[in-house]
Amino acid sequence: MKSLETLVRPNILALAPYSSARNEYSGHTAHVFLDANENPYNKPFNRYPDPLQEELKAQIAKVKEIKTEQIFLGNGSDEAIDLAYRCFCRPQIDNVVAIEPTYGMYKVCADINDVEYRPVLLDERYQIEAAQLLAACDDHTKIIWICSPNNPTGNSINREAIEEVINRFDGIVIVDEAYSDFSQVRPFRLDLAKHPNLIVLNTFSKAWGCAAIRLGMAFASPEIIAIYNKVKYPYNVNLLTQQQAMEVLKARYDVDDWVRVLKQERSRMISAFNDLPICLKVYPTDANFFLARMTDAQAIYDYLVDCGIIVRNRTRVSLCQNCLRITIGNKSENNELLAALRQF
Ligand SMILES: *Cc1c(COP(=O)(O)O)cnc(C)c1O
Repeated sequence: MKSLETLVRPNILALAPYSSARNEYSGHTAHVFLDANENPYNKPFNRYPDPLQEELKAQIAKVKEIKTEQIFLGNGSDEAIDLAYRCFCRPQIDNVVAIEPTYGMYKVCADINDVEYRPVLLDERYQIEAAQLLAACDDHTKIIWICSPNNPTGNSINREAIEEVINRFDGIVIVDEAYSDFSQVRPFRLDLAKHPNLIVLNTFSKAWGCAAIRLGMAFASPEIIAIYNKVKYPYNVNLLTQQQAMEVLKARYDVDDWVRVLKQERSRMISAFNDLPICLKVYPTDANFFLARMTDAQAIYDYLVDCGIIVRNRTRVSLCQNCLRITIGNKSENNELLAALRQF
């Protein structure tokens, strides 16, 4: 791996971050706070939230079996994705490499930050070899994006291939494990200590059932996390989000139950789709959705919209012609979808 000093943008390396009132005083013994121009009335919303979310991070560290210094929290994974560009990629000079097809935000954020995006097509089994990704890199490649389980295909990317990319690439590898709770594959966050160039993304939006609160996580070396913290907005995660995340972490056995039921429903839905004459293929999945190749994705999508049922039409995505992406809902939602499709 190149040194972090060479990978980080020079202006970010030199940056003196904004120092907020709650950064400068972070002890717990004071009782009169006249340092942040807050209003003394309207508790608890009158106070700025903890800029580094220490209490919440301590809970997440236990659940995820990593250290608090290895955690960045942001306004959804979207913030962690955008920050990767802002920390590492010089506009119009550096580039990033990613598997294709994959989650759309990596490219959108590349375009916003004026950074070249180099997609590398998966094979017909939606897999990739390390050598193909590495061959797309040059001296200015700062990041390789790998989403596993991948969206929209649903499958996990071969773990050995990802490991080889992490070991052989001299820049940053970001493995987006938004769906790893639904998979049996060992998550990469547990191997952070072995890989100083690895960033792992997790989210509260999927298995944890909290898409509304906008809370994403990036796990990496304390050195990388320190750079993220320097660049993020001072109070990027609001109080309500921090409080609600603590609530769901207390109820984590509910999350285990949700995941168990969703995986059962996933098996049931895949069998049912395999029996539908209008379904040509269901792709293997490790996520809370599956990709299905249909006889005519557009017509089936339009018909479902008329029935008040919305799935994701992926027919215009590379390698996904005539494919619909189906999220696993609750039993009655799933049954309603199946009943509608049987009438098509
Ligand atoms: C849904 C999803 C996320 C979650 O994004 P948030 O901003 O945390 O809601 C991240 N990565 C992938 C691949 C996803 O599909």
